[in-house]
Amino acid sequence: MAQEKKLVEAITSMNEDFTQWYTDVIKKADLVDYSSVRGCMIIRPYGYAIWENIQKYLDARFKETGHENVYMPMFIPESLLLKEKEHVEGFAPEVAWVTHGGDEKLAERLCVRPTSETLFCDHYANIIQSYRDLPKLYNQWCSVVRWEKTTRPFLRTLEFLWQEGHTAHATADEAQQETITMLNVYADFCEKALAIPVIKGKKTEKEKFAGAKSTYTIESLMHDGKALQSGTSHNFGDGFARAFGIQYTGKENQLQYVHQTSWGVTTRLIGAIIMVHGDDSGLVLPPVIAPVQLVIVPVQMHKEGVLEKAGELKQRLSCVARVIMDDSDKMPGWKFSEHEMKGVPLRLEVGPKDIEKNQVVLVRRDTREKIFVSMDELETKVPQILEELQNALLERAREMRDKKTFKAETLDEFERTINETPGFIKAMWCGDRACEDAVKERTSATARCIPFEQETISDKCMCCGKPAKHMVYWGKAY
Ligand code: AMP
Ligand code: ZN
Repeated sequence: MAQEKKLVEAITSMNEDFTQWYTDVIKKADLVDYSSVRGCMIIRPYGYAIWENIQKYLDARFKETGHENVYMPMFIPESLLLKEKEHVEGFAPEVAWVTHGGDEKLAERLCVRPTSETLFCDHYANIIQSYRDLPKLYNQWCSVVRWEKTTRPFLRTLEFLWQEGHTAHATADEAQQETITMLNVYADFCEKALAIPVIKGKKTEKEKFAGAKSTYTIESLMHDGKALQSGTSHNFGDGFARAFGIQYTGKENQLQYVHQTSWGVTTRLIGAIIMVHGDDSGLVLPPVIAPVQLVIVPVQMHKEGVLEKAGELKQRLSCVARVIMDDSDKMPGWKFSEHEMKGVPLRLEVGPKDIEKNQVVLVRRDTREKIFVSMDELETKVPQILEELQNALLERAREMRDKKTFKAETLDEFERTINETPGFIKAMWCGDRACEDAVKERTSATARCIPFEQETISDKCMCCGKPAKHMVYWGKAY
């Protein structure tokens, strides 16, 4: 019991210090370890297993929507990076350079990919000739490097794991359709797999991706009221195609530029899971992506028949869920808090008395609710409770977000609200960069997105009072 207390006490309460809470959770749940390189992290097996589940789920969706995986080099020759002006200007400050191979200075420096548009474009220019070669729907799973000034495990690291989709299409319409399709794939994934509700919308000119015609985003809200850009989908129009000379011959023999898109999500999503669902006992993982969905803890396991029963249940339940049994030599209470810390959605306790009654106790990680279930019904009950838990997490996250979403009609009201209770603020905007800058200057909040679902909060820009063009979600972001 004393040990159990120690484990729980060792994490900071989220209301006391959210940043410290986050750091405690990722360490105590054994998701990461710090590395010897600033801003880089070691993803531990349990953390990596979450990423693998994210990959599996998304990769299946990408393939269902017609995409193929490829692999590009991790280096970009400087001359290639320089081809698209806006793109290079946007990324230059965060690029890491390779200047030597062994002792020899390279004739041309190579940048470590911060994103691979230029590599894909160079390749597309070689392989696309005719309308018959289109569309090209490629995706790559890899890591990229961006020399970020401030870093935080998962949320912002120098090297991060991601997928980057890169597509080329015959028409502007098709490229726009693809951009939105993939944004919807991301939004759906966040809600259905991660139980994280997102706001879908368009980035402002100021916030859009370097070189894109338009950037679309899914924005989520963390428990502390800060926003997180959780995934982006870009429409490039034919800008890159012109810079790289990617042309095809159409049906009527006319030479045309392709229209391109790119889209990506990263290990940042693991940070979102932690900060949306976690509590003062640690992680809470949505069953769909939890590496372990059910942990069996035998109680009084040295009594006759207990371990055998627990083992038998493990075998039976492995057909319906990802199950482990913890028969380690620790006190049950210690085991309970350890698996709570790791966010395992369901715990099954079975001891001599339960065996006598032909029942077990299931304990939900999110509500701590104890459910007594007959051993005969476990194969149907466990998946059913996991599904209920998954839905409950989404519902709870949505309530939390809605409670932290406010409206403001003036900048004064905006400032007061965001300082009192951090969260999303819905407010009207005239569309001018000057007003967007003024909001940031005064409140440090940024335009998260112009949501697809527009509302009218007033007819005037909250900043300058001129006629409003859009309703915008604003927030302080990670
Ligand atoms: P981008 O290629 O800039 O559109 O980035 C794609 C996605 O990567 C963004 O929507 C972020 O969610 C995420 N992201 C950007 N920078 C980082 C970083 N340093 N570490 C982890 N994730 C990142
Ligand atoms: Zn304005």
